[in-house]
Amino acid sequence: MNDTSISEPAAPAAPDLAAATPMLAQYLEIRRAYPDCLLFYRMGDFYELFFEDAITAARALSLTLTRRGKHNGEDIPLCGVPVHAAETYLARLIRLGYRVAVCEQTEDPAAAKKRGAKAVVKREVVRLITPGTLTEDSLLDAKRHNYLAALAETGGSGGAMGFAWLDLSTGEFWLQPVDPQRLGSLLARVSPGEVLVSDRFTARPEFFETFQPWKAALTPLPPSRFDSENGRRRLEALYGVKALDAFGAFGRAELAAGGALVDYVELTQKGRVPSLSTPIRIADASVMEIDPATRRNLELAESLAGERTGSLLQCIDRTLTGAGARMLAARLAAPLTDPAAIDRRLDMVAWFVADARRRETVRTALKGVGDIERALSRLGLGRGGPRDLAGLRDALGRIPDLKRAIGDGGLSGIPAGLAEAVTELGEHGVLVERLTRALGADLPLMARDGGFIAAGYTAELDELRTLRDASRKLIAELQGRYAADTKIPSLKIRHNNVLGYFIEVTQTHADKITAGAGSRFIHRQTLAGAMRFTTVELGELETKITSAADKALALELVLFEDLVKEVSARAAAIAGAARAIAALDVAAALAELAVERRYCRPVVDQSLEFVITGGRHPVVESALAEAGGTAFIANDCALAASDKRIWLLTGPNMAGKSTFLRQNALIAVLAQLGSYVPADAARIGVVDRLFSRVGAADDLARGRSTFMVEMVETATILNRATERSLVILDEIGRGTATFDGLSIAWATVEHLHEANRCRALFATHYHELTALAARLAGLACWTMRVKEWQDEVVFLHEVAPGAADRSYGIHVARLAGLPAAVIARAEEVLRKLEAGEQANAATKLADDLPLFSAARPKSGGAPGATAPSAIETALREVNPDELTPKAALEALYRLRGLLARK
Ligand code: ATP
Repeated sequence: MNDTSISEPAAPAAPDLAAATPMLAQYLEIRRAYPDCLLFYRMGDFYELFFEDAITAARALSLTLTRRGKHNGEDIPLCGVPVHAAETYLARLIRLGYRVAVCEQTEDPAAAKKRGAKAVVKREVVRLITPGTLTEDSLLDAKRHNYLAALAETGGSGGAMGFAWLDLSTGEFWLQPVDPQRLGSLLARVSPGEVLVSDRFTARPEFFETFQPWKAALTPLPPSRFDSENGRRRLEALYGVKALDAFGAFGRAELAAGGALVDYVELTQKGRVPSLSTPIRIADASVMEIDPATRRNLELAESLAGERTGSLLQCIDRTLTGAGARMLAARLAAPLTDPAAIDRRLDMVAWFVADARRRETVRTALKGVGDIERALSRLGLGRGGPRDLAGLRDALGRIPDLKRAIGDGGLSGIPAGLAEAVTELGEHGVLVERLTRALGADLPLMARDGGFIAAGYTAELDELRTLRDASRKLIAELQGRYAADTKIPSLKIRHNNVLGYFIEVTQTHADKITAGAGSRFIHRQTLAGAMRFTTVELGELETKITSAADKALALELVLFEDLVKEVSARAAAIAGAARAIAALDVAAALAELAVERRYCRPVVDQSLEFVITGGRHPVVESALAEAGGTAFIANDCALAASDKRIWLLTGPNMAGKSTFLRQNALIAVLAQLGSYVPADAARIGVVDRLFSRVGAADDLARGRSTFMVEMVETATILNRATERSLVILDEIGRGTATFDGLSIAWATVEHLHEANRCRALFATHYHELTALAARLAGLACWTMRVKEWQDEVVFLHEVAPGAADRSYGIHVARLAGLPAAVIARAEEVLRKLEAGEQANAATKLADDLPLFSAARPKSGGAPGATAPSAIETALREVNPDELTPKAALEALYRLRGLLARK
């Protein structure tokens, strides 16, 4: 996207209005004001699209393309969608990346007719639909936020950057400063549906990479839209305050971004801004940094296939409401870094874990609660309907039950977060009572369809309805009388939209009616088998009926607006209740999960430890449980800055290395989002940044090979991991030649140990790396245990101290079905290679440690200076009890080889 016309309509390009009919002239004028949108042009019961729009939409939506009239001698292409089905088509267009301007008739066609036979009905664009400004349930995922974001910068290139985002469908609004290095992580965390950026940004080469995944979501705007002073004024006006200080100490760049957002909402909603909650400022460091690659690799919100199924989110989500599901997703996307804040959330979960009955009561009260936030926002934007009001009535009506379930014994002694939520639930009895009285049982989607106000709510409406219904009864009586008078028992009084009420008889009886000049029956229509008539009496009755129905509908609309006004006046309190309901839902759902899957409460503190006892992988464990086969084997992990902070994990293919690595990263994420974790015990020194490099895939779209992707991800880790970070590295350097790969892996371990000094788990098939443990005090060797039994390898999935001597890759290849001849040959080659010189090369490298000395900071070396020799280390790692005769012989050869090198 590179045009800016959504905010600043381009100058009309020489419209050929002279040649156009009045209606076409109106169309062309509106069309020119929105050149980057498809124009949905309302004509009666259809939205029509003309010219290029028609061709585009017909192709995108598989609609029939027709032609209507001519312009400049050419046929005008046309296609249309019925108004009642428009949302489905809109959803598809938005998903395909189009923007749509919706142009409605803003006057009654009858009123237009009064201005002259050729007068065109007035029309106006009432809304621009863009990916970030959706509010309809059918266009949104109930379980996910859809954010509109803006990125701004003050002081030109290199100045401060600010980010703002809001969910128009729920009214939530956030601002935060941006460290340019964390921009990619921030975008991945918020995952906005649309991002407003100054077109200066998109032209800056240093941001090309960062913006690449968001290309389809970017809406470039002129820099003038991001003026910080205007932004401040806009926000102050929006909240009706003289200064924004009470909301937080916002930087100029944040205000510029926030102002641009509000500006854009006004533009797309044509002046209507829903009630936005006051902006919440997020400090950059208050959230665990998780870069886009890590997020993808760990499959936090989506599996690698891009689906919710198989993700951590899907695995842990036991929420019962849309708002709860969205809050959980948002928390998972942004785990906290403040142990006190994490504890506050954990306290709430613990309270629900402790008592199954209260958990059940609250969850029962939450079941079926509708989406208050989205209903409120639609009502605020003037596009809500009676069902939105009913949704509010039902949801707010549950509040007394919720309060009772939590605070029956008073609020003292319950966790602070819960007490706060109960207070935020508020008091909505009067509104609920009024909505209950006002709304009938069968509710239409749109207020304009009428019939939703309950009988007995106002006497005036009841009267009009009685009149309308009584008149209908009179019609039935009239039909009986006419049938008797004319002696035509089959005479009927019918109704259609063209004629209104009419009398219908079959052709055979028509004579009986037309006979006699003074007949009161006036002919209206002759059909093949029937004739239609009216009478003055019938006409009068019809007028009575329609006017009563019109008046009733008009009154219903007034009553509807009245109810909406009352809701809008209480919008802030209702939004507070919605937030509280979501928070209760999340806490109770996480407790349900904890009990169901035997999770424990983690201790999160300021230490630099990461000690997990009996840790499990949440997703793999669930999958195994569902399959009903083998149980998941729990494993411990103990990293500490002061001791062994890096674990080097070797082991055969398929032994469970990746699973172990990921489970520890996921446990950190779960703990810091405020959830219990799949372990017997967990103590986690808060993690500021989480990095995971797992496997690799080509990113050919970005012109990167597998190895390049791997190296870019590794570079990010080595440049950004701090002492407080947790790093998961699964295979480094596998995508290149063996010695290149080994050298890179080697140097990476050294750098992590010496320069980053972070906690890390490093899985590798380069068994040579285990020699590094002799030199690096903070490095420990661990391996996945296997048992060889009758020439078979049994994976125990147990992590144990030590190093693996082989990968059993050929064994796995056999399991995968490689031809027997290939397997036999591979075994032969392996034997030869192992007997050769290669094993020694690495040992020598370990003694020299050339890369190690390059990475070592000048101030000091690795502690534990007098290291054992390579032979001693190798010997220590041999466990005679576990060796098969064959392995023992191999070990002997290896030791001999080491001796030869000395
Ligand atoms: P490779 O080196 O080939 O990538 P790996 O050592 O990383 O293999 P994983 O992919 O982690 O192995 O695990 C292989 C399979 O073993 C998993 O799909 C899972 O089903 C099973 N598995 C792993 N860990 C455990 C465990 N702790 N308990 C039970 N099953 C496990």
